[in-house]
Amino acid sequence: MFQKILIANRGEIALRVLRACKELGIQTVVVHSTADADAMHVRLADESVCIGPPPSRDSYLNIHQIVAACEITGADAVHPGYGFLSENAKFADILAAHNITFIGPSGDHIRIMGDKIEAKRTAKRLGIPVVPGSDGAVTDQKEAKRIAAEIGYPVIIKASAGGGGRGMKVALTEADLEIALQTASTEAGAAFGDDAVYIEKYLQKPRHIEVQVFGDGAGRGVHFGERDCSLQRRHQKVWEEAPSPALNAEERARIGGICAKAIADLGYSGAGTIEFLYENGEFYFIEMNTRLQVEHPVTEAITGIDLVHEQIRVASGGGLSVRQEDIKFNGHAIECRINAEDPRTFTPSPGTITHFHTPGGLGIRVDSGVYSGYKIPPYYDSLIGKLIVHGRNRVECMMRLRRALDEFVVDGIKTTLPLFRDLVGNADIANGDYDIHWLEKYLAKEE
Ligand code: ADP
Repeated sequence: MFQKILIANRGEIALRVLRACKELGIQTVVVHSTADADAMHVRLADESVCIGPPPSRDSYLNIHQIVAACEITGADAVHPGYGFLSENAKFADILAAHNITFIGPSGDHIRIMGDKIEAKRTAKRLGIPVVPGSDGAVTDQKEAKRIAAEIGYPVIIKASAGGGGRGMKVALTEADLEIALQTASTEAGAAFGDDAVYIEKYLQKPRHIEVQVFGDGAGRGVHFGERDCSLQRRHQKVWEEAPSPALNAEERARIGGICAKAIADLGYSGAGTIEFLYENGEFYFIEMNTRLQVEHPVTEAITGIDLVHEQIRVASGGGLSVRQEDIKFNGHAIECRINAEDPRTFTPSPGTITHFHTPGGLGIRVDSGVYSGYKIPPYYDSLIGKLIVHGRNRVECMMRLRRALDEFVVDGIKTTLPLFRDLVGNADIANGDYDIHWLEKYLAKEE
């Protein structure tokens, strides 16, 4: 087992990883920018190293500084959290070259899944159902028209290097295709330094359903069921739940089994999430994230298994603590992402939190790095906490969520709490009846 883990992240996820390390008796080092000197993860860690000024590229993305911090403190492993360097293959390779363990998959697996065209090809080879579309990159208009006609309109043009919901263009008819292809490719080149784009069928009313998987790196793969993340705004997840209100046990076992086998065949190591769009009973792979997800706590709530413990165990060579048959699903969980944003316009609302009071009681978990008197710096994303609620079934979970939202107090800044108070009283949400466009339509109506 590791002696000392360096946490290369900030905010709630840095604290989340720190808690797991403490439970396992592992020493912790955190790195931070000058803007985060007062952050909770810095206060609670055994050691901390300031690695640079506020901009992420000079601190949380600065590989040299982070490797230097490992050497100075004698850390033998790095947990990257999510975002920042968590899906940076070069970072994983550099750590390996320094004999420091990257708590995540190999650089090669990160590289394959980071290139969406390669990822889709690999998924198909492993027997995972994919969205119908081009086999690889599409450069030429003629070819694009041929493929689009074959799969049928509408189609979506996506950047191979895309991420964070950026670099996608929909073409409803052949008349839109030429411009869509051109703008998608130009935008991808400017945003990601790679102008490769591909075409796939645009699904009209899908749900976003993702499967949590784990590999032990030695040919064993398991799944931890699915999460439904259909409630999105600008392709950003807002509310996540497990299990999905749309799946039955048979569908869950089928797609879970396919994913676990793929992970085993790939020889994958650590946590991963295989994302699908789901429509009319069919699953369509869109991408795989090779890291821990923001929404992992809903899976922890219904399985009772600490996924960060598992990540650390697997990375240290100790293997998974569970076999597939040990993973049981119990009840229902919902996560609300509490952002420091105006609940109507979603403009960021940094500033000082004058009062912070979190709900408690049975089935309630709050993962947050903030506290009363904390000043939110304007440099990073606006997630200030996550409320995760668990109940024996979805109805109980929703009742408990409504109560927890009423108790939650964040004064001094604007947050998205009022949005969740509205959603929890909505009939479609109560019925679990929503797709990936539902939230944007709802917000447009409310304006
Ligand atoms: P990113 O890596 O940028 O998040 P994804 O491929 O995961 O990109 O897609 C993000 C979101 O875009 C999906 O959750 C879905 O809302 C939408 N999307 C992507 N592909 C399609 C498609 N073929 N049809 C309809 N919507 C899509």
